[in-house]
Amino acid sequence: MSLTRREALKKMFNVVVAVGAANFISFDDLLALDSGKMIKPNVVWLHGSSCSGCSCSFLNIEDVSVVDILTKFTNLIYHPDVSLATGHHVVDLLDKTAKDLKGNYLFVAEGSIPVKMPHACLMADRPMMDWMEQMAGNATACVAAGTCAAFGGVTTMEGMVTGSMSLSSFVKYKNLNKPVINLPNCPMKPEHLVYVIFHYAKFKTIPKLDAEGRPIRFFAQTVHERCMYYSEFQEKNFAKKIGENGCMLKLGCQGPVTKNDCMVIGHNNNTNTCIKAGHPCIGCASEHFPRQIMLHTYNDKRAIVKFKSSYL
Ligand code: SF4
Ligand code: SF4
Repeated sequence: MSLTRREALKKMFNVVVAVGAANFISFDDLLALDSGKMIKPNVVWLHGSSCSGCSCSFLNIEDVSVVDILTKFTNLIYHPDVSLATGHHVVDLLDKTAKDLKGNYLFVAEGSIPVKMPHACLMADRPMMDWMEQMAGNATACVAAGTCAAFGGVTTMEGMVTGSMSLSSFVKYKNLNKPVINLPNCPMKPEHLVYVIFHYAKFKTIPKLDAEGRPIRFFAQTVHERCMYYSEFQEKNFAKKIGENGCMLKLGCQGPVTKNDCMVIGHNNNTNTCIKAGHPCIGCASEHFPRQIMLHTYNDKRAIVKFKSSYL
């Protein structure tokens, strides 16, 4: 279905409202971005060690065309899954961007960086860690899209041999001195990235972050604090198996130690989220994800939630 320009702008404004950016982005701002009166943020996106789930999550946004987000409201320079450029065109484009747009683009990294096994992730015969150093080092700010980029995630779990690092660890390791906005979630929620991009478009700065580099707007509270089962938890009405009504703490729920806004913004265009679907939170946005033991049973004595004893 083709949309008129005004219909497309209206749909985009609905997304702006949904992500909580309407207090600083007005409809006139969208018009200004679309018409070029407001400068569109330049965006470069690269994959490190990842499953591409965060890109898929972003591309699945339904309320508005991804093409609109990437072309009307941002100037997307390169994305490995979306851009048509291949081969030496990509190399030339990235080299040129790092040189000519130095300090004038947002660098989005998806996945971690395999530092101890550089050949595990190559692009144009160059290790990804070189690309990450070049593109992060010359950006205005970096965005770690998803838990692997933000905290290492599954790519740094026990037994992994690639020596992968999160983006912020890599930035420190290479002394790049760049701000990193962590958007953990497995996969990243597109709404969080849209918010960061609009914040940057309007103010040319990054949003306020917490000690872990996450936007406070989304990560100030734990899943537990806003959970629909919070009153069940207070009344010690615990579910004993999946599908039973009640708080799922004793089924290994990680809500009390996971900061995220899942009870406000869910996955798949806010269709649902784990707890609402009847499954304990597995802490996918946590800095400790994935734990050695992901879920434990009702009588399991292994410590999984750090301060479990104070809850039971
Ligand atoms: S422990 Fe989990 S299910 Fe129970 S109230 Fe907290 S977040 Fe909700
Ligand atoms: S409820 Fe927990 S596991 Fe599910 S998306 Fe939110 S943080 Fe991740």
